Amino acid sequence: MLHRRQFLAASAAAALLANARARAATYDLVIKGGRVIDPSTALDGVRDVAIAGGRIAAVEPSIAGDAADTIDASGKIVTAGLIDIHTHAGRSKEGPPMLLQDAVTGWVDAGSGGADNIDQIAAVARGAPQIGRALVNIARTGVTADGELKNLEAANVDLARGAVVRNRDIVVGIKARLSNNVAGTNDLEALRRAQEVASGFGIPVMIHIGQSYSPLRAILALLKRGDVVTHMYAPAPNGILDDQGRLFPEVTEARRRGVLFDFGNGVIDHFSWDSVEKATKQGFWPDTFSTDWNTQSRTTGVVDFPNVMSKFLMLGMPLMQAVACATVNAARVFPAFDNRGTLNVGAPADVAILDLREGSFDFLDNYKGTRTGKQRLVPVASVFAGKRTPARA
Ligand SMILES: [Zn+2]
Repeated sequence: MLHRRQFLAASAAAALLANARARAATYDLVIKGGRVIDPSTALDGVRDVAIAGGRIAAVEPSIAGDAADTIDASGKIVTAGLIDIHTHAGRSKEGPPMLLQDAVTGWVDAGSGGADNIDQIAAVARGAPQIGRALVNIARTGVTADGELKNLEAANVDLARGAVVRNRDIVVGIKARLSNNVAGTNDLEALRRAQEVASGFGIPVMIHIGQSYSPLRAILALLKRGDVVTHMYAPAPNGILDDQGRLFPEVTEARRRGVLFDFGNGVIDHFSWDSVEKATKQGFWPDTFSTDWNTQSRTTGVVDFPNVMSKFLMLGMPLMQAVACATVNAARVFPAFDNRGTLNVGAPADVAILDLREGSFDFLDNYKGTRTGKQRLVPVASVFAGKRTPARA
């Protein structure tokens, strides 16, 4: 048994040792000198970010100590890894590594697969180099070119439930595409069935709006807190604006009760500059951005997720808010992303390094409309769970 004096000496020695360890701290990676923008802590300033054991270890003005690897981020923007909640990245195993090069460290495949083919999508997600999740399409076929809900029998509640149960580690919600060319007159019943599946698991439904058979107010009435409306600026018929270009009161009412609104860039009929400008002038901005990405997106108006972010900088959204839409807001939509979308000490070390370039940049809507902006965020590098991914170009 130690005497009290010996015990005190031992404690002092232990304290000294801990101190020495702290001074000689070693990190796996330090990202040095970037402009760190972290809306989760309202931080916008030049900081070093240290990573150890796959987690954020420190965010400080200057971090000493050894690091196995360093990234010089001076002149660059450093944010939490980007999270894209509407992609089709699960369609092939080539998709997820491409997204990681765009600094997307988390993605959701939004309904590429239904009960008949979600298992393949889930397998791609499990093999992805970052965190990938999926929404089960309420139509058993998943997305089809001729409209997966034209035949209501495709919206089979029991089969969709089975698809969730088989892939509970990957599936985070249900997707329903409700435009006329997908669902025809079946839009409301398909959404009711999607809610029936979702309610058994306590998961959200994401709907794709615009050009639907039913009025938007009837669709919104079927949404619960935490559900997501993607393609939020889809032009008429049955978009968020009335014939005079005013927001329908049901749209702001849905937001007040916790329905989330997602941009969903896409390619055809999902937004026009006119619809975006009319809505944002009335204060109706996205909660989250998303691309509706697939492996062909580099050659469309999407290009990459930072390009979609840049469209909102052009429209006057502050950089801090644009980063929030791409990180912490997206993380809050699905519990699978809890603890992500932030650079808080202890969080998984998912980081995006972006270059905010000044110049003249053209941005496309879905109708070949062009707007020219003065800033473009370009992906430079990303880190997922502490592991570095090189730049795309
Ligand atoms: Zn989509």
